[in-house]
Amino acid sequence: MDSLGKVLVSGASIAGLSTAYWMNKLGYKVTVVEIASELRKGGTAVDLRGNTIDLVKRMGIFDQLKLDRLSLELIEFKNADDGTEGSILLKNEGVQPGDDELEIERDKLVGILFNSIKNDIEFSFNNSIIALDETKDNMHVTFKNGTQRAFDLVLGCDGTHSGVRKIWFDKNIDYTYFLGAYFSISIVNKLLIKQNTMQFYNVPGKAYILNAYKNKTDIIFCFLSEKQIPYDYRDIEQQRNIILKQFAGQGWRTTELLEEIEKSENFYFDKFCQIKMPSWTKGRVALVGDAAYCASPAAGIGGSLAMEGAAALADALEKNNGNFGLAFTDYNKTLRPFIDDVQAEAELNVRENFIPRTEEAIRKRNTQKDPW
Ligand SMILES: Cc1cc2nc3c(=O)[nH]c(=O)nc-3n(C[C@H](O)[C@H](O)[C@H](O)COP(=O)(O)OP(=O)(O)OC[C@H]3O[C@@H](n4cnc5c(N)ncnc54)[C@H](O)[C@@H]3O)c2cc1C
Repeated sequence: MDSLGKVLVSGASIAGLSTAYWMNKLGYKVTVVEIASELRKGGTAVDLRGNTIDLVKRMGIFDQLKLDRLSLELIEFKNADDGTEGSILLKNEGVQPGDDELEIERDKLVGILFNSIKNDIEFSFNNSIIALDETKDNMHVTFKNGTQRAFDLVLGCDGTHSGVRKIWFDKNIDYTYFLGAYFSISIVNKLLIKQNTMQFYNVPGKAYILNAYKNKTDIIFCFLSEKQIPYDYRDIEQQRNIILKQFAGQGWRTTELLEEIEKSENFYFDKFCQIKMPSWTKGRVALVGDAAYCASPAAGIGGSLAMEGAAALADALEKNNGNFGLAFTDYNKTLRPFIDDVQAEAELNVRENFIPRTEEAIRKRNTQKDPW
């Protein structure tokens, strides 16, 4: 098949690899540029459900994903004495989960996506776009490694802090929407609670989440903050100290968990924020995934959003026979209601379900039959 044209994808994570998969399938010649020297590792599990399950079946990777699936059985809401105030039984121990939902470690998903396309697509690691220039017929791209090339389309799949968004979209607009809270994630190689279970402990304005699977435990701390906290995003120790200071002196298993965080080799800290843009496309450039419409980890479906966004863009290009102008209009229109819903729910989740503000709200959340 003759190539439909050349596409450059920026970012090799869930959005970028999915977008590359679909563009290659449509018949474009695809190059992926990734700023890191290899696929980026780490992160908590990714939950795929509903339409995304159909998508991964269409992509032919469902059976591979199933081999590595996780199996969360129980969520418990704890009090300061480690008593259980409420719980949600998701499935009985040892029972095979159904095929309408799939939870998998982020690394595993990214690895499977990469393997499905690595032989068909050019990858440029340790590189990034530093300048974009649109001509009548294509996009001229200048890369960090000094090369310059022309592409028909440039697709920014480079996450919340997207380089493509910063270079190409309105520099006077801050598309970031702060949700008034921060979180940290450390993954330790031991079980701090029973395998395949999750625990929540809250004090007003603060949340602890433990999630145990495959002999590992995710330790997640969240806290509300009306104002944004200034910190250096490269200074991990400074960020670790923000968490240590916020949570010092609290009850439940705080001392033990803070000790784990202090010695943990992986520590990730960020604000809960969303990306809100009036249009995800401009000229020959489109954004996909967190770069365009991050809903924050509180949505719990960042991976699904990225995969559905990639497919929506590909479907729009296919429907419009590669006419990118019409396709981009379609993409902006068809995906928008879904994104608006997910972002609104995530915002509510942060304040009401993850980090309630009062003892009363915590008690209500803990004892509700279905808090979500
Ligand atoms: C290492 C890692 C850990 C994560 N952990 C969690 C987690 O624990 N919980 C959670 O809810 N979400 C987590 N996320 C975010 C989650 O993957 C996304 O919310 C979601 O899956 C959408 O993915 P995305 O591909 O749009 O963005 P991302 O997964 O953020 O991927 C963006 C990719 O673009 C690359 N990139 C960034 N800037 C540039 C640039 N200028 N040029 C080229 N490439 C660039 C990045 O290195 C990355 O590979 C994590 C992301 C990463 C990269």
